[in-house]
Amino acid sequence: MQCKAVRLKNLSLPQIEEFVLGLGGKKFHARQIYKWIYQKRLSGFETMSDMPKSFRARLEACAGISKLESRRVLESKFGDAVKFGFELYESKHIAESVLLIDDNRRTACISSQLGCGLGCAFCETAKLGFIRNLTQEEILGQLIGINDYLFNKGDKLITNVVFMGMGEALSNFDNFRSALSVIMAEDGFNIGARRITVSTAGVVPSIERLMKEDLTIGLAISLNAWNNDLRNSYMPINRKYPIEQLVEIAKRYYHKTGRRVTFEYVLINGITDTAAAASALYKMLGGFPCKINLIPVNPAGSKEYGSPAEKLVERFSASLHSRGLAATIRRSRGQDIMGACGQLTAFMMNHSN
Ligand code: SF4
Repeated sequence: MQCKAVRLKNLSLPQIEEFVLGLGGKKFHARQIYKWIYQKRLSGFETMSDMPKSFRARLEACAGISKLESRRVLESKFGDAVKFGFELYESKHIAESVLLIDDNRRTACISSQLGCGLGCAFCETAKLGFIRNLTQEEILGQLIGINDYLFNKGDKLITNVVFMGMGEALSNFDNFRSALSVIMAEDGFNIGARRITVSTAGVVPSIERLMKEDLTIGLAISLNAWNNDLRNSYMPINRKYPIEQLVEIAKRYYHKTGRRVTFEYVLINGITDTAAAASALYKMLGGFPCKINLIPVNPAGSKEYGSPAEKLVERFSASLHSRGLAATIRRSRGQDIMGACGQLTAFMMNHSN
């Protein structure tokens, strides 16, 4: 039989159903395949034992389900983070993902683009510029690879997913959205909306789309500044969607989904950790049920911006608390493996050995 290889992990369940019917299979075979791919993590059809042999042979000839190859795995010496580099299809780049390990949680922080076009000044990924969007298969492939790693260690599989790796997921909305359906599907990764978070630099129209589609995933907005002039200076997207619009849509998101929005706020010595900054944040966010994640700027992610001393970080956090704002200091894990915020880069494959 002559037919073109169809990448099944780029298809939705209804599309797989259509595909298997076209190959002379039954509709229910689609769901079986889906489970084999995402739950058993098979990379070939031969051992899909609940389907006829002749049908498996037709699949083998027409469809592809190979996995992303993991080119590098770096385990943090602290045992709480692992960084992966996955070789992408038909590309000289690899995409990076990080597994964060807590007592009960295994959180996969995954990439949605190669590089990023939004140009935030403190971010390593931004230095690559935008290379391309990851496909649905490449987004899901990172989760499959991380689950393979956990399974081989005899550990529990991924419990939480955050889109906070390379790229702006909401600028790759269609592939992000279709990957999300598989992540949430019972026969897919079966991870509920409450365990999924997307981080955005503030792509307002895509946040509107999330609300329209009744998705109740967590939303984290990288705020990082207490006024527009400052935010314009290191987050160019602010010229398009300024702070007032972000706060306004965050409030609507909360009312629509019942989920408190998280504002990520990078602490830069003498710039975002001042008394004036604390007052401005209170004016902006006071009385609105949200969370503020304080992230001391990562020294490797930014050469120009300095990280405040520990006691200044504590003092800033306390000043927000005293005003009734729910602020948490987020310590970047995985710094020893360059897996912390703002440190992910798409190493060229010929640099990865
Ligand atoms: S911080 Fe996020 S949105 Fe900004 S450049 Fe880096 S990856 Fe892109």
